[in-house]
Amino acid sequence: MNKKLKWSNYDFSQIPFDQIVSFGQRSLLYQDLFCVSWLLGRFCNYKCSYCWTHGRSDQLDHRPTELCIKTMDEIKRQARERNYNSFHFSFSGGEPTLHRGYLDILKHYASDLDRVNFQSCHMTTNLSPQLKWFEKYIDATKSMHRISITASWHREYADQESFKEKIIFLQQHDVQVTINMVMVPESFNLIYDEALFFHDAGINVTLKPQTNSNATLVVENYTKEQLRVLHNGMPQRDFTAARLKDSDQSSERPKAKYDLRKMAIDRGDNDSIPQMMSVEFTDVRGKKYYMDQAERFNAFNFNHFEGWECDSGFRSIIIREPCGSIKRSYSCHDTPLGNIETGFKLFDAPRVCVTPTCVSSADSKIPKKRF
Ligand code: SF4
Repeated sequence: MNKKLKWSNYDFSQIPFDQIVSFGQRSLLYQDLFCVSWLLGRFCNYKCSYCWTHGRSDQLDHRPTELCIKTMDEIKRQARERNYNSFHFSFSGGEPTLHRGYLDILKHYASDLDRVNFQSCHMTTNLSPQLKWFEKYIDATKSMHRISITASWHREYADQESFKEKIIFLQQHDVQVTINMVMVPESFNLIYDEALFFHDAGINVTLKPQTNSNATLVVENYTKEQLRVLHNGMPQRDFTAARLKDSDQSSERPKAKYDLRKMAIDRGDNDSIPQMMSVEFTDVRGKKYYMDQAERFNAFNFNHFEGWECDSGFRSIIIREPCGSIKRSYSCHDTPLGNIETGFKLFDAPRVCVTPTCVSSADSKIPKKRF
């Protein structure tokens, strides 16, 4: 592995965050994409010592598969009413793979391929299922345009070698993977060494700053050097494409109904910017800046958007268990849009943010504009 790959050539610390007037994930800025982030339950098979008490549960707390499918259909119906016909559903938990109907939910999601312009699916998992389960997962998702996984590395339970082997297997089946590593300041070097082990094996690693227990602020005790690593370390690469190329394969995923790149360029996206730069910023003078992923925002304390106009609730929602609440995003203090049991209604237009801090990347990547 080329050592230079550990550092971004594009210096994200040069982005003038105090001058930024609009930003968002480029697929949201330039395509008709609707985003759903769905926390299926808190039930988890791991019991990590550092996990927040509200982050996991020993009790099976999942909604019935039929209700999840009905909710998915209703989300698509309301999104289409608002002219969004490309979808990205992101599932998390607890451990989402433990939902007994998870693969059926995914198969249903993929079943209207003929109707959608584009469809992608993401999950955050501890990667504990065996390879046999992942074979079924790959089969259930094969008709989607893009599949991605955030693999949470839990050293108390997982084994580095088998974790790596599972990820390589997924990459060889055209699944994008990044490993989530929370960079606890006190164990920074140890965690960084583990991150290097995976990075050197051709696997993306997301170096996440640690937040406080209610996830509203980044902890303060990072050294200058640690912050430098969080700002520019381990930029995301297209390792899955490289893995496919190494084994003389190419992607067999269906092509989107329309040319996504052409649509984006027609709507103003810059064709010369690599796709891995997923976030675009515009400053007061109209100058554009780019970042590989919104997970880096917290490292720059770029997470205060109260008073900005935000698209969440209009072209993105979150569903959170165990309460079944449907909200515009995780951080938002707004009244929920509804509940999975009783129904919900999306906003009819973007609305102003009323929340002091926006710390989840699921929330921060949604397009926003400063007035
Ligand atoms: S807290 Fe909610 S409304 Fe505010 S910027 Fe974040 S996602 Fe948008």
